[in-house]
Amino acid sequence: MFESLSDKLSAVFDKLTRRGALNEADVNEALREIRRALLEADVALDVVRSFSDKVRDRAVGAGVIKSVSPGQMVVKIVNDVLIETLGETAQPIDLAARPPVAIMMVGLQGAGKTTTTAKIAKRLKERHDKRVLMASLDVKRPAAQEQLAVLGRQVEVDTLPIEPNQTPLQIARRAMEAARLQGYDVVMLDTAGRTHIDEPLMQEMADIKSYANPHETLLVADSLTGQDAVNLAKNFDERVGLSGIVLTRMDGDGRGGAALSMRYVTGKPIKLIGTGEKMDALDEFSPSRIANRILGMGDIVALVEKAAAAIDAEEARKTAARMAKGKFDLQDLCDQLAQVEKIGGLGGMMDLLPGVGKMKDQLAKANLDDKVIKRQRAIILSMTPQERRNPDLLKASRKKRIAAGSGMKVEDINKLLKQHRQMADLMKSFGAGKRGGLMGKAAQ
Ligand code: GDP
Repeated sequence: MFESLSDKLSAVFDKLTRRGALNEADVNEALREIRRALLEADVALDVVRSFSDKVRDRAVGAGVIKSVSPGQMVVKIVNDVLIETLGETAQPIDLAARPPVAIMMVGLQGAGKTTTTAKIAKRLKERHDKRVLMASLDVKRPAAQEQLAVLGRQVEVDTLPIEPNQTPLQIARRAMEAARLQGYDVVMLDTAGRTHIDEPLMQEMADIKSYANPHETLLVADSLTGQDAVNLAKNFDERVGLSGIVLTRMDGDGRGGAALSMRYVTGKPIKLIGTGEKMDALDEFSPSRIANRILGMGDIVALVEKAAAAIDAEEARKTAARMAKGKFDLQDLCDQLAQVEKIGGLGGMMDLLPGVGKMKDQLAKANLDDKVIKRQRAIILSMTPQERRNPDLLKASRKKRIAAGSGMKVEDINKLLKQHRQMADLMKSFGAGKRGGLMGKAAQ
């Protein structure tokens, strides 16, 4: 999969010699291949469509970094939009309520609901130090309550004692009361599933929900069922109301398309993913990992990110080259300061410029630390381009205006100008004396 999409994109873009901004025709060609990849990853068709429109809006006219191909650039944009759509940051289970906090688990039979209930209980006990009580509300499947009890013993989490002939609502009531009386922090309600959604099931869920008032209502869905899982999520959300989704069998062959579709359609966060049958096989949801799984293009994304970082370094080297030639006006200083901030402060900047180590002391003497950098940039940005090129134009009245514009005092501006003069002189002396030497090397 990785090979074929990558190859196809290369084929599309190898034909294009154009560089610079991405145009609509280029983007459309790339999107055709990417749409195919998304469909193969089992992303629902209407999700693919609106997703692809979003990428087109973002990509057309976007600049292409010199050292990567337009195809690679589109892949990076697709990856970014995927991550945004999947929800950027992981959202943990929310327990911020008065105990006992109820967590209601819903989903179709066989999705992995009971297994996931026990996995979550184990995690809450071990990582969050919570006392958890689990209860199975499945009275249709005789073995269901016993299955949860077995898992409970395995993970050493208590389960509500089984009493025959109770309705799901009665069991829920008993669980909440027991938790209150016995001081449990969390009650996990494992509800019954069917092989398909039906009205009595939905009504039962809705009733239990309105009684137990759960802080989390998690849909457990099998990622391998792909598009069916999306309809399921939508139905459950409309009828019962969900706070999040757990996707199981992410250890299988599914390519994660269900995750994208579900998030897109319901707007509900995917909180956890099941990655196996063992009780520890439960992971936080990582949008970037899923994006990579859907697109299979992690290498390209890393490449573009690296190239973007290299561009920053290249800009810094250009400034260094001007410095080496003894040209260093306030605009150069401003550009350089911006780069310094991007690269990670002065230390990072110095590391990029070979031979500049000796200047570190001089700069330290000039009091150029990272906090000062921000202020100095604000001052320079308040000047006109002419003033930046020729600081001699700055008369007292302009200095006053600039001070007001950048939130500084006139003496701060004088200080900056003095420092700049000292630095420019220093650059000049480096440039004149050592052309072809250390600074010269940086300029090549
Ligand atoms: P329920 O009917 O929804 O309660 O489903 P179960 O919890 O009984 O799970 C059905 C089967 O799926 C069991 O054999 C589980 O071990 C298995 N299962 C659950 N979650 C996962 C998962 O994330 N990965 C894999 N490979 N199997 C899982």
